[in-house]
Amino acid sequence: MPHRSKPLSDPLFNKIALIGIGLIGSSLARVVRREKLAGHIAISTRSAATLKRAEELRLGDSYFVDPGDAVRGADLIIISVPVGSSGEVAQAIAPALKPGAILTDVGSTKRSVIAQVEPHVPEGVHFIPGHPLAGTEKSGPDAGFADLFENRWCIFTPLPGTDTEALERLSEFWRRCGSNIDTMDAEHHDMVLAIVSHLPHIIAYNIVGTADDLQAVTKTEVIKYSASGFRDFTRLAASDPTMWRDVCLHNRDAILEMLARFSEDLSSLQRAIRWGDGDKLFDLFTRTRAIRRSIIEAGQEIDAPDFGRQAVEHPQGLDQVKKS
Ligand code: NAP
Repeated sequence: MPHRSKPLSDPLFNKIALIGIGLIGSSLARVVRREKLAGHIAISTRSAATLKRAEELRLGDSYFVDPGDAVRGADLIIISVPVGSSGEVAQAIAPALKPGAILTDVGSTKRSVIAQVEPHVPEGVHFIPGHPLAGTEKSGPDAGFADLFENRWCIFTPLPGTDTEALERLSEFWRRCGSNIDTMDAEHHDMVLAIVSHLPHIIAYNIVGTADDLQAVTKTEVIKYSASGFRDFTRLAASDPTMWRDVCLHNRDAILEMLARFSEDLSSLQRAIRWGDGDKLFDLFTRTRAIRRSIIEAGQEIDAPDFGRQAVEHPQGLDQVKKS
């Protein structure tokens, strides 16, 4: 029988437990509250200081250092911690999970999260790995905002035999958070994300690191003239070190494969510059310009000189940017 959505005024879940309350967890807390998606929001995070901050921000209804206490009685549990900590969180919450509950995550890598979490999932609990393709370079509970997932993709990588009703219920949850839904297998997800997200971050970390190594330049011209291309790399390179260390370690194979391709293409570009092959350079730059145009046409970016940064940091300003 097809699953029927609850009326929009009804909470989708009686109790949601958010484990990890940084950028993603706190954005979820805010949108869940705004859209009335849960009767009760329980929050758990590792440190007492972050938990206290979440409470000061009134992100939830109850707060726990022990994640097992937070998930008790919850019908949706969302793990939003660095991917390398997924297994330890799953192990800690497993004995307290309610039969019939949906357990999901938001981790940027999927094969590794599945390998860490699946062995701990008790019989009768629906584990559906997920990844919202939404974020900024900021972290922590203050960084979140309710519009973060608006018009962004949320990818599920369901395991064989996943309950279709549970998947539909989780999809409805993310749709009400503003997202578009897609599903694919975990291996494909990791390969796609290696090129669209992980490699750009690694390149940014590398170029900013190289500039920093050139100490004499860095202290003066690099900062002073950073209004040019370098500035856009520094934004990516300011992303959370723990999160990105874990992404590199947990999507190693796909990242290494993409890096190998990248190095080959870079050598070819280097050769074109060395031999003055202007046609080759022009062709490549024309092709890449078209890619940016298609991203804008797909509604995943706005055609603003600040690369849409104003919209991310000041979501309320999005309409103004779009109108301008
Ligand atoms: P974040 O802002 O740094 O927040 C991480 C949260 O996880 C904090 O509440 C932190 O708690 C908690 N945490 C860290 N280690 C933990 C552990 N061992 N046990 C329990 N809690 C732990 O990170 P985020 O940006 O929200 O990222 C969370 C997840 O979302 C990651 O898996 C990331 O790959 C994924 N993701 C991120 C983005 C992005 O752009 N940032 C986008 C999509 C998906 P304390 O502060 O108490 O230590």
